[in-house]
Amino acid sequence: MKRSLWTAKLVYDDGALRSGWALLAADGAAQDLGPLAELQRRYPGLPLQDKGVYLGPPLVNAHTHLDLGLLPTFKGDFSEFLEYVISNSGLRGLAAARQAIPHLGQRVLGSIASNDEALVSWLLSEAELEGVVYWEVLGLLPKQGERELIARTAALLHRWKALERPGGMRLGLSPHAPYSLTPSLMRATVEMALELDLPLQIHAAESPAEVEYFARRSGPIAKFYDKHGLPANLHPTGLSPIEYLAELGVLDARPTLVHGVQVSENDVRTIAASASTLVSCPRSNVNLQAGLPSYDLYRRHGVTVALGTDSHASAESLDVRDEAYFLLEAGFSEVEVLRMALAGYDALRLPRPGFGKGTPLGQVEFW
Ligand SMILES: [Zn+2]
Repeated sequence: MKRSLWTAKLVYDDGALRSGWALLAADGAAQDLGPLAELQRRYPGLPLQDKGVYLGPPLVNAHTHLDLGLLPTFKGDFSEFLEYVISNSGLRGLAAARQAIPHLGQRVLGSIASNDEALVSWLLSEAELEGVVYWEVLGLLPKQGERELIARTAALLHRWKALERPGGMRLGLSPHAPYSLTPSLMRATVEMALELDLPLQIHAAESPAEVEYFARRSGPIAKFYDKHGLPANLHPTGLSPIEYLAELGVLDARPTLVHGVQVSENDVRTIAASASTLVSCPRSNVNLQAGLPSYDLYRRHGVTVALGTDSHASAESLDVRDEAYFLLEAGFSEVEVLRMALAGYDALRLPRPGFGKGTPLGQVEFW
């Protein structure tokens, strides 16, 4: 293979994004990395290949739901979205995930898996993907049913933990959302994660409906529970969803919170103090009329913010670069969106891959 210098507007170097840098590509691997002018001095006369905006390790989709496959994208009210997902729950699982995988923009991802145990086993033992598969737990059951669910979940987690393999996906746990588990089930789920050292991911502070439910036990979620015959006193009131998670001790386990749109500055301070991270899925937030997170607020308080697509049911593609395009159009800089697309490694508790001399060119991403 001919030697050449690969450049891009921003080149990854040990966690930083450098402009005016390049890598020397030869014999199927990066042979050198540094400022373009320096490399041109060191290797005179080599052809330049402009690779675009970014050159570095693979970007990360830190939150999706493979088991929802390519379900048509819903646009509309959040509580109607819940009904939409429930009415399609029969389609969730391994077959749907296999349909979605060829459409993934990234091989490193955090994916929730709900109901289908075969999907989790397959992702852990066979799938050519990296990242974390989070087994989803939710339930508003009476005590006896809850105890059985916890015992069954613990048995599954122990079995799955043994299927993890180097270079494959890791096991994680996802209590679905503050409003969809009883406080005792939320606590028990977090305790299981701590015991097995599993990363946690929780949808939180997504919609105005969630805020209204925790503030006053009213609005679309309260109506939804009423309609489905669930008791009205499952959760405390007078709190924000983030305050509720903090009071319950959930944030002590440093979960990755997904969405975090409907938050006060005090909530963001609480998230920062707990060293929890955030995954933002802006296209899904817009499609479900939830608003957009205040990225400025999170930045000011030093919270790590990663990017995810969420499921195909609420975003038009499973490519985190489309989230990046969306934010670029909204006025964010390329550095900001790339930092978020790389922060997925931190949100998923994965080590950042090395990048530079010796990196096989097949593992170099450009965009
Ligand atoms: Zn989600």
